[in-house]
Amino acid sequence: MSDSAVKVAVRVRPFNQREKGLDAVCCIAMAGPTTTINDVDGGTGEETFTFDYSFWSHDGFAISDEGLLIPEDGNSPYVDQKKVFDCLGVEVLNNAWTGYHCCLFAYGQTGAGKSYSMVGFGPNKGIIPTTCQDIFRRIGENHDPAKHFEVTIGMLEIYNEKIQDLLIHANQRTKGGLEVRESKQLGIYVQDLTKRAVNSYEAIEDLVDEGTANRTIGSTLMNATSSRANTVLIIEFTQVTTYDMGKEGRKLSVIKLVDLAGSENAEQTVAIASAINKSMSALRNVISALADKGSGKLKKGQLIPYRDSKLTRLLQNALGGSSKTIMICAVSPASSNYEETLSTLRCADRAKKIMNHAEINEDPTE
Ligand code: ADP
Ligand code: MG
Repeated sequence: MSDSAVKVAVRVRPFNQREKGLDAVCCIAMAGPTTTINDVDGGTGEETFTFDYSFWSHDGFAISDEGLLIPEDGNSPYVDQKKVFDCLGVEVLNNAWTGYHCCLFAYGQTGAGKSYSMVGFGPNKGIIPTTCQDIFRRIGENHDPAKHFEVTIGMLEIYNEKIQDLLIHANQRTKGGLEVRESKQLGIYVQDLTKRAVNSYEAIEDLVDEGTANRTIGSTLMNATSSRANTVLIIEFTQVTTYDMGKEGRKLSVIKLVDLAGSENAEQTVAIASAINKSMSALRNVISALADKGSGKLKKGQLIPYRDSKLTRLLQNALGGSSKTIMICAVSPASSNYEETLSTLRCADRAKKIMNHAEINEDPTE
């Protein structure tokens, strides 16, 4: 068993057009692993946090001929998509190869850059496509004839406390959505979720495109709903070794890659939060309770409220469980978002106190 804290990264994006138009002021500074937020408007001073990574993607970039955002020169602190993948995606893959269940989730206010980091836009591919690509590159490097690999993909959305299978067309789904269950082998899983076997990156890409098209978010309603849905890609990665006498050893890693709903909903009143997005307020409560547990402050008999939402139940193994977990927090640089950004940084600060106890999922006796 490997005890390890949840790893936490924070990434700050460039100003968007609207912020530029309003002559926005940047309230974030980073130095090494630290992030400082400065209350430039209100004057309550500054607060500094230390994370595993503080990724500066605010300025200092150039756009390459292929449309890639890259550091403008050798001295630029700008962190591009490749660097984020090298720090976070590679760790997910290393853990998966060891046989740990893994989770990487993006948290933050709507518009702060969660989808940019996870999925990416155009040529600036995010962690999800790059990780999927690298799975098959690594598999291709295996020359041991006794070893083979099985990869399956599932994709779901949690919207309004219902889990929907994104690999099934909307009008063919069960009405009430799917249920979360638990098993020794798979950990926490979604019952009856479609699993498709894939043997190339292109096959994953096609399925992700299919799943994306099946989301609740019609393109016309994009802004109204996209910020309230949690999208989860589940990769089951099995390494199979064949021994003499036809015996098989199997090592399984379930990888959950999560683009969360906007965290700002959790800041509203309880009534609104529960109607619109129970998941986000429940997630914060689970993170707070686990942080208290990690620092010995959890009250006696107090339970971690995983069962308060579908999202927290699905992430139970990832938060305080037997998975290796990374949280990437996306923040806006603009002082106009100071309150939301501070709240995201505080949540990130609590998350790094969460301890997980990862186990290798190996079955050598089959
Ligand atoms: P979220 O998913 O958190 O709502 P998005 O990822 O859609 O936010 O980001 C909002 C906008 O900001 C997008 O237009 C995106 O291209 C841009 N953006 C976000 N992060 C970055 C970044 N690190 N570098 C450049 N542009 C970014
Ligand atoms: Mg998004």
